[in-house]
Formats: sequence, C-alpha cells, structure tokens
Amino acid sequence: MEKEIICTVCPMGCHIFVEGEGDRIDRIEGFTCKRGEEYGRAEFSHPVRILTSTVKITGADQPLLPVRSEGPVPKELIPSCMEEIRNTVAKAPVGVHDVIIENICGCGVNIIASDTV
Ligand code: SF4
Repeated sequence: MEKEIICTVCPMGCHIFVEGEGDRIDRIEGFTCKRGEEYGRAEFSHPVRILTSTVKITGADQPLLPVRSEGPVPKELIPSCMEEIRNTVAKAPVGVHDVIIENICGCGVNIIASDTV
C-alpha cells in the first residue's frame, strides 16, 4: 500500500510518500526533517486526530457547547466518537477544560469543553 501524507508538523506542508503494509514501512520519502519523517511513519501506521466538535447543552443561553479531545484519538474511532458526542447533553454551568465525556469510546482520551458556558 502507498500513501501520500501531507505533513502538518510545520507550515511547509511537505508531501510525504510512504509505502508498506500495516506497521511495516518499506519506503518513505518527501520529508525534509526528522520530525517530518516521524510524523509520516506514525501517520502511516497509526493515524490519530485531535477531535473538535460541539455537544448539546441545557441551562445555557446557547444550544451548543464547543468541545475537543484532550489528546489525539485513533482515526478509526472517530465515527464512533462523533456518535457518542452527538448523543451527549452537557448541563450548564461548564468551565473551559471541564471533562464532558470521560474516556471516549474507551480510547483513554477525554472530551473537554473548549469554552466557559
Ligand atoms: S517534513 Fe519537516 S519541514 Fe516538512 S512540513 Fe514536516 S516538519 Fe515541516
């Protein structure tokens, strides 16, 4: 399998090409620094994302509370995480960085408030 990955570590946005299977990497090129190579390897084998979204909130002036994951979430779990977020209703008052969903989808990452409401 071959994958083209755009490095997001710095604004240069280098295009990294990785060839391999699962955890095995046969070829990696296109990076221009060590951090980019590490990013390309990790993104090929175990892609992760910071999740940002909103949850419904009651008892507030606004209907939605902005939230984000406290750390990176495995990319393959994002649809299930979004489903859990959609089914969650927070209750005001909420402070910035309050935990809204603990250990989302069992991946060890919390969903926290991005704002005070
Ligand atoms: S490979 Fe290095 S220089 Fe290129 S975008 Fe990634 S961090 Fe920046």
